[in-house]
Amino acid sequence: MTTISAAKIDAYRLLQMDLVRHLEEAEFLALKTEAWGHDDVVIARELIPDLVKVIHSVLMQHEGTWRGNCRFCLKPAPCPTVQSIHHIVKDPQRQFVKLLDAADEP
Ligand SMILES: [Zn+2]
Repeated sequence: MTTISAAKIDAYRLLQMDLVRHLEEAEFLALKTEAWGHDDVVIARELIPDLVKVIHSVLMQHEGTWRGNCRFCLKPAPCPTVQSIHHIVKDPQRQFVKLLDAADEP
């Protein structure tokens, strides 16, 4: 059995906390009750592609192989990670769907 050193566990924990804090800042901007100013719009336009890039990257890591298993977690494809992302992105109550529907309107 492989054990992870306490220093590595602390490093992973700090990395995860940093990522969570970053996502919470993005969520805070999105949920801001005041009208967005020019700077908020600029930040959102930079942030949305970054978040899409993160989702895309996770999907690519969990891509199914020709054997039908996820290349990352080795579970049958689509693995729980892909299923979870699919559920969140394609949920009609979520903004992803509304945003894409609005973009299709003439
Ligand atoms: Zn997977």
